[in-house]
Amino acid sequence: MATTISETALENYVELSDRELDDRITRAKAALGNRLVILGHHYQRDEVVKFADYRGDSLKLSQLAASRKEAEYIVFCGVHFMAEAADILRSERQTVILPDLNAGCSMADMAELEQVEVAWEELRRVTPAKIVPITYINSTAAIKAFVGRHGGAVCTSSNARKIMEWALAQGEKGLFLPDEHLGRNTGYRMGIPLEQMVVWDPHQDLGGLNAEPIRSARMILWKGHCSIHQRFLPQHVDKVRRDVPGIRVIAHPECRWDVCQLADEVGSTEFIIKCVTESPPGSQWAVATEIHMVNRLAQEHPDRRVISLDDCGCLCSTMYRISPQHLCWTLENLVEGRVVNRIQVERETRVWARAALDRMLAIH
Ligand code: SF4
Repeated sequence: MATTISETALENYVELSDRELDDRITRAKAALGNRLVILGHHYQRDEVVKFADYRGDSLKLSQLAASRKEAEYIVFCGVHFMAEAADILRSERQTVILPDLNAGCSMADMAELEQVEVAWEELRRVTPAKIVPITYINSTAAIKAFVGRHGGAVCTSSNARKIMEWALAQGEKGLFLPDEHLGRNTGYRMGIPLEQMVVWDPHQDLGGLNAEPIRSARMILWKGHCSIHQRFLPQHVDKVRRDVPGIRVIAHPECRWDVCQLADEVGSTEFIIKCVTESPPGSQWAVATEIHMVNRLAQEHPDRRVISLDDCGCLCSTMYRISPQHLCWTLENLVEGRVVNRIQVERETRVWARAALDRMLAIH
């Protein structure tokens, strides 16, 4: 395979010391000034996130970047679907960059457009009911576009309930992509019985279901999950409560249903941060989400005890691929006028994905 000048240059960053990398990133950032905005997701590692102009979840970051019109370059220290979301929401003059193109998301990859199109056709064959698709923001632009084309909306972990309620007011059933846990946790909190939420397995004929359960279901959940959040188990909750009397358990809704049932609190990354931040000194929290965010909460609140629900710690290894080396390489290329690793969603996909995002934003 041909090697570009930029790719060759990336290899030269491997040997740099942490100090050199920090200095060079700082210099490149200063040279780019207002033309650059660096976004850092909550799950990003410390050595990278310390350079972020904004830290947050994927939607908040994309919106902030789009509002910074003077920033020509949006460098997203997150994963691929997040950079796509930023590209969908960006203004005309902005360019979105993902420092390592291998930073994907296993959950987003679990729903491919072809699989969803097949499922849609099969569902329509089995039931005349109006189905409204909903996709979690943790999905590819192609899936967001599919949802936009079919009258559905995007949701986040903060507004999933509102969007699901909206979808069920529009139609008789919802198809929830691509995270079965967020879908089930949300549906259950709305009062939908578990037996009225069926799981569609894209690797089996008719999703591994019979026609009747599909006809009686209110919510069809796509069989996808976050491999990090799914690692938290009910026995971890039992153990931490035995080991640390009085500790409160807080779980992200990408965790399994049985874990969320046992938790004291369930909510998005922003909700978790708010709960810990607003809790009184001396509070104790066992947090079921990505380890970098848990450790950062612990560092920022030394008067509270904040630990991971699972001793092993759950790390988003794909997000971890964004290294200081990649960030430095990206920024120094920009200083020299070269854009590397641009994320550009194809025009028609962008239009329909934007429609699904706008529909979400319009739902109050
Ligand atoms: S934590 Fe899970 S859902 Fe989030 S980016 Fe990583 S793999 Fe994807």
